[in-house]
Amino acid sequence: MYSAQVCDAAMRQLSRRRSEALATADARRYELFARVPRFKEIENELSAQGAQLGKMVLSGGSFVQQLQAMQQRNLALQKEQEDMLRQLGLPANYLEPPYYCPLCEDTGYVEGKRCQCLSSLLRVEASKALPAPDHLSDYSFDAFKLDYYPAQGEGAVSPRQQMQAVLNKCRVFAESFPCGGESLLFLGRTGLGKTHLSLAIANEVAKSGAAVAYASAQDLVDRAERAKFGRDSGGDAEFVQGALTCDLLVLDDLGTEFPSQMAAATLFQVINTRLLERRSTIISTNLSPQELQDRYSERLASRILCSYSALPFAGNDIRLRKAMQ
Ligand SMILES: [Zn+2]
Repeated sequence: MYSAQVCDAAMRQLSRRRSEALATADARRYELFARVPRFKEIENELSAQGAQLGKMVLSGGSFVQQLQAMQQRNLALQKEQEDMLRQLGLPANYLEPPYYCPLCEDTGYVEGKRCQCLSSLLRVEASKALPAPDHLSDYSFDAFKLDYYPAQGEGAVSPRQQMQAVLNKCRVFAESFPCGGESLLFLGRTGLGKTHLSLAIANEVAKSGAAVAYASAQDLVDRAERAKFGRDSGGDAEFVQGALTCDLLVLDDLGTEFPSQMAAATLFQVINTRLLERRSTIISTNLSPQELQDRYSERLASRILCSYSALPFAGNDIRLRKAMQ
């Protein structure tokens, strides 16, 4: 369920699109009528046919024959109109309103069902209630420095090589978004660049016009609690709704929230719903897979560990190394 505020905003946007399309069509008609009066005659005749049809029904008689004659005349007029448009170098549908969404003609509904354009407007409006993290644009793939990761390590793969692979995966994910609703799990200690890479992805994906939301686990739980118990501090319900329905959710610092029933219920609802609806989520956590299993219910842990692509981050604490240089 979306809030009234979100619904109103989406419907306003929809009716703005529709009026724009109708106004454009009107402007085109009048301009064409002035240039070529025959267009006006054709339109008059086409609209007179509707009235004629009513009279035919009343008069009875050879109704089918008259109807066929009328349909032929109708097709001939439409063809004449299209030919004239073509001669002017205009498309055949030039006089039709240029709807933003031809499926529903900007009404938001097709055969009584919500059109995909309205669903997407609702998601975008709901995600506007989410605060963007500060300086989102500072986090880019190019600003991610592999030099901070040691080129030598104990294992066969050095931390730098491992992070090169993580970086590549993140770039591919952002470029091929929505990538079938794939979700990513960033594993590793604080300071290894998890937030940086998740925000770099968010940046790229947002540029493509998708609805992107960012929340720390604690913030999400706090807002869900306030919305649920009627202590909404302004936009909390929209925030939670946006977290459920946006195209990409970045859920930061899973495992640092205060453990409670509310936290468990909120996290399960958001993570599970997004998986079922094939919406991508990026979760970052300092917990190991074992710690995730110990801390959360089996259901929640298995959703994350089985359905997300895990990316283990390697290296020393980057913030520390940066600070020392
Ligand atoms: Zn539509």
